[in-house]
Amino acid sequence: MKKTLLTCGLILTALLQRPLTALAETVKSPNIIVIFCDDLGYGDLACFGHPTIATPHLDRMAAEGIKLTQFYSAAPVCTPSRAALLTGRLPMRNGMCSNKRRVLFPNSNGGIPANEVTLAEQLKFAGYATACIGKWHLGHHSQFLPTNNGFDYYFGIPYSNDMDRVNDSPKGRQAFNDPKIEYWNVPLMRNEEIIERPADQTTITKRYTQEAVQFINSHNDEPYFLYLPHSMPHVPLFRSKKFENKSLRGLYGDIIEEIDWSVGQVLETVRRSPAAENTVVFFTSDNGPWLIFNEQGGSAGLLRDGKGSTWEGGMREPTLAWWPGTIAAGTVSRELASTMDIYATASKLAGIELPQDRTMDSFDLLPVLKGDKGKREALFYYRGYRLMAVRLGDWKMHLMTQDAYGQPEPITHETPLLFNLHVDPSEKWDVSAQNTAVIARLTQVIKEHKKTAQHADSQLEK
Ligand code: MG
Repeated sequence: MKKTLLTCGLILTALLQRPLTALAETVKSPNIIVIFCDDLGYGDLACFGHPTIATPHLDRMAAEGIKLTQFYSAAPVCTPSRAALLTGRLPMRNGMCSNKRRVLFPNSNGGIPANEVTLAEQLKFAGYATACIGKWHLGHHSQFLPTNNGFDYYFGIPYSNDMDRVNDSPKGRQAFNDPKIEYWNVPLMRNEEIIERPADQTTITKRYTQEAVQFINSHNDEPYFLYLPHSMPHVPLFRSKKFENKSLRGLYGDIIEEIDWSVGQVLETVRRSPAAENTVVFFTSDNGPWLIFNEQGGSAGLLRDGKGSTWEGGMREPTLAWWPGTIAAGTVSRELASTMDIYATASKLAGIELPQDRTMDSFDLLPVLKGDKGKREALFYYRGYRLMAVRLGDWKMHLMTQDAYGQPEPITHETPLLFNLHVDPSEKWDVSAQNTAVIARLTQVIKEHKKTAQHADSQLEK
């Protein structure tokens, strides 16, 4: 009798589950594309106010999607920023930062720790096909490469395009003023094999684009995650023939206009694919513009300082998201958000839980994408392992400040500096004296944060 009841129960459960299963089979998880620039400034796109750089494809992406005006990277330089994007965690938690070496170099032995669950690994649990096309910079030794960290496929330069400088190249900045491919002996890899050295950087943006288009076209039948971290506009600046002397902004403008073309190619490929309305595309950057390169560096627009600093220009990024049918066309959001939030968002879309055995720093962005209030309340600005500043709502408080380059040690502020970023996005007027209650509130937020701020040993010092 018991057995019969049990059998009936099982049949009933199976019948009830059937429509859900059928639904799950017909509604495919959305494809996810992350286009990640290197050292692009907040003020470098026409849709973010640049007067002479033409970005028609990005402008169209903004017009059809959402522009995120308070969206941040998790660090002001490459390696920690990329680690945070792909793990949904602050770099100090996994040692992908350092107070001594700011990024990984060709002579580094460290890389992304094996126990981190990369976004690619996470999405693989949900049956996604995954590819990384572009700059990796999370370790170039075999165990750290994309194909050993959740990606089915890799094509790109594994670290910064200004590394492996050859000894007989022109000294100092001269090499950047008239860059030649042979001055930087950087490898180009396919999966784990070096296929070209030095990489022909003049065609690098073009080839990343071709690879991306090919990947999209060959994955019409399964959900995919395409991570497309461009090597540009990090110096040395290289572009293909078609973009030479095209931009009013000069060489740097040519580079951005080629990236803009690339975005157009990717979006057009998606539009023509069967998943045109089931693909979310993010566009952002790893950190702000490299200002010490003068006209070869970008612009943070009205934001203070750039790459390397925890002033706004170092970490606030020009960000767009595009998902026709889900994101309302022409939305502008002022909600606080971070590259780390892409992790929770993508996991939610794929129907998988966040790792439960570790502290995450990632919040689901879907409400923001749909024009609602965001879930993120605070943002922590780290430089290496040092917590420099915190943002809560419109307030930003600096515990320490340090110029991006050239100032060896930070200044610790006995009374923290306080700026209202809605009133003063350029961080010009310290209003700490008039707002002691705000300082007290932000100090409490930091105190709470520090309870969970475990520091792992640095991978960058190995
Ligand atoms: Mg960078």
